[in-house]
Amino acid sequence: GEALAVSARVAPLGSRLVLLLVEDLTEARRIEAVRRDFVANVSHELKTPVGALSLLSEAVLDAADDPEAVVRFAGRMQIEATRLTSLVQELIDLSRVQNDDPLEDAEPVRVDELAAEAIDRCRHQAGTKHITMAASVGAPAGPGPAGAAADAGEPRQDAEDLRVWGNRGQLAAALGNLVENAVNYSPSRTRVGIAARRVPAPGGAFIEIAVTDQGIGISEKDKERIFERFYRVDPARSRATGGTGLGLAIVKHVAASHGGEVTVWSTEGQGSTFTLRLPEAGAARARAPREEPVP
Ligand code: ADP
Repeated sequence: GEALAVSARVAPLGSRLVLLLVEDLTEARRIEAVRRDFVANVSHELKTPVGALSLLSEAVLDAADDPEAVVRFAGRMQIEATRLTSLVQELIDLSRVQNDDPLEDAEPVRVDELAAEAIDRCRHQAGTKHITMAASVGAPAGPGPAGAAADAGEPRQDAEDLRVWGNRGQLAAALGNLVENAVNYSPSRTRVGIAARRVPAPGGAFIEIAVTDQGIGISEKDKERIFERFYRVDPARSRATGGTGLGLAIVKHVAASHGGEVTVWSTEGQGSTFTLRLPEAGAARARAPREEPVP
């Protein structure tokens, strides 16, 4: 209604302008709807652990003369408190990557250091599932996911030569999230690999960092939605592993604000490869990062 009224008033100015205005209003409404959804989702996600904590604390008070029950309830309180802490931390991370200009304190960041950090961060979780993690940084380029096949013509690059331009903390969070997911959505005794390579391109080279797992995979339909905030293919499984549904939204935002992108390749039941494509340090300065409207 509103959009049509505006378009009728400005119609004499030409149809192109009208179209722009209508598109603008539609976009503004879409952003408003996304914001409302987000607030509703956050409230719901916060209510779950807070509600559980409140019930459990009552149970502890009621069971004051039964030490075993007190210990049991306290253990469950600890789990809920941990869940609440990681949700709040992810919300802070998300808001930080959305509001801070990542390129304000950008620097060349070594990809082998990012990979080692991501592996370190997931070592405990991977260990309990006997998942092996390995990084191959500077492997020769080839077709398909980074490091999938060797191209005889391409010389091997030294690991320290592979550097991306950006905010170290944000890049570490992005790669850490991808590796954490690879571990969380894989059965035990599988392998998680990080492979990075330099991809020459007109206007400046890119660095591709691919995280490959042999996990449950993602269906075609879900691939389109997993980067949305709070979207999870299997909410119960995600919660069981301490997931918040915000990780990939953070990764996508970091990639875009650095002038890059994140893509996924997956076969259900066989595994997934998430690839971060980021401007190489040196090449990036010449190029303005792509701006995304943030609701
Ligand atoms: P979560 O905190 O639930 O892991 P993410 O935003 O990181 O949230 O991921 C969203 C959803 O995408 C996950 O709940 C899961 O269903 C799916 N997903 C992410 N990474 C993988 C992966 N490597 N393999 C299979 N599914 C994945």
